[in-house]
Amino acid sequence: MHGVRLVRRQEIELQKEHFNASARQASIVARTAGSHERFQRAQNSLAGGVSSGLRRNARPYPLYFQRGSGVWTTDVDGSTYRDYGLAWGPLILGHAHPAIVDAVIKHLHDGLTFGAQHDLEFEVAEMIKEIVPCADLVCFANSGTEIVQVALRLARAVTNRTKFLKFEGHYHGWDDSVLVSYHPSASQIQEHDLSPIPVGAGQRQHADVYVANWNDAAGVEQIFHEHGAEISAVICEPLLCNSGCIPPQPGFLEFLRDITRRYGALLIFDEVITGFRLKLGGAQEHYGVTPDLATFAKAIGGGAAVSALAGRGAFMEWIAAGKVVHAGTLNGNPVALAAAKATLETLSMGGKQLYEDLWRRGERLRIGLESLLRQHGYPVVTSGGGPVFQLSFTERRALNYRDTLAANTSIYSDFAVALLDQGELILPDGRWYLSIAHTDKDVEETLAAVERVLQ
Ligand code: PMP
Repeated sequence: MHGVRLVRRQEIELQKEHFNASARQASIVARTAGSHERFQRAQNSLAGGVSSGLRRNARPYPLYFQRGSGVWTTDVDGSTYRDYGLAWGPLILGHAHPAIVDAVIKHLHDGLTFGAQHDLEFEVAEMIKEIVPCADLVCFANSGTEIVQVALRLARAVTNRTKFLKFEGHYHGWDDSVLVSYHPSASQIQEHDLSPIPVGAGQRQHADVYVANWNDAAGVEQIFHEHGAEISAVICEPLLCNSGCIPPQPGFLEFLRDITRRYGALLIFDEVITGFRLKLGGAQEHYGVTPDLATFAKAIGGGAAVSALAGRGAFMEWIAAGKVVHAGTLNGNPVALAAAKATLETLSMGGKQLYEDLWRRGERLRIGLESLLRQHGYPVVTSGGGPVFQLSFTERRALNYRDTLAANTSIYSDFAVALLDQGELILPDGRWYLSIAHTDKDVEETLAAVERVLQ
């Protein structure tokens, strides 16, 4: 049996394409003429034809959508897909959840924005205080990128230090200050190792960030040993969702908590993905480690443009007192906060059971995918779990970003095309998101679609 599997693996490695991907791609092309036409048109006016760079990587080309409902999303040619991308994470309640739609419509009629105070601001802040362990005080912005900048500025202010430590492979938005050593290639790593590597042209040179490998306590210890007096904060994705959903090794978050305290730096959890997703109280509840500051976006608004910083009172007081500037015309606008309130209420009302269901379904899917693919001889590993996980074509479980470079992304891309042809929409980078709209039946149907793809 083992021998048969080995031969099958060798065959798989020799194949140029997998899952009959060209034929399946041709079938998608044949029924997405409307998307193709729109993409051609859009590129004449909209730079690159997309509104966020990563969306360009879609295969065969970026699709155009007209509506979404629950787990389903419909493209402009009328094809409907079961959605595991969920707009890259925000749609924790699925598409167009009635609670969000009703709340937003009500507030739309009362005015899009005031640029002044209204009740939803403190109502949502109070809910976050109730839910999130580190939240003594809260402030709002519109995107994850912005709110991370507030957190880093605050850390510099309260420590009177200028540098911070981030981890290779972690994403904290597209600002120059943090967009370094995100997904360096193997040759970049060989050349620069852990020196901060800018991702694109035009970025300022970096002197204020130290980069460490995820899960490398000795490496972090060394950086603090040499530069501890200059480091204002350690920022991390507590579950490394942007590079393979790599969990912290047991004790690693506790280690970060401890070393930041020892050296007088702040610990910032970037919970833009994990917030209200891993558990109601985010990664800090899930892992039982409370940071000084935490940033939230994506799921907090259920699809609306809203982000939040939550943190310990002693630090957030600097914002409260106006010593650290936090500003923004549309910050805390009623439409976005109406969506946030409806999302948080729905999640809170679902209680423990809601997250248990989300985990159970996600785990069934994750383990089901892994075992089906393995049965057919594909070397795969999955990591993360339940509400957000990663599927990678590789033998080796990753401990840090560098390990993820071993995964075969071209097989994954063929797999994504084959599933798209079956009406299952997944992200191109291997990450799968679940919403509370996904049912047991959805999961079983998706696994059945995977079986069809494997035939
Ligand atoms: N932090 C993390 C962990 C993220 O995943 C993202 C977005 N993918 C951001 C920050 C930036 O958020 P936004 O795209 O809303 O600016």
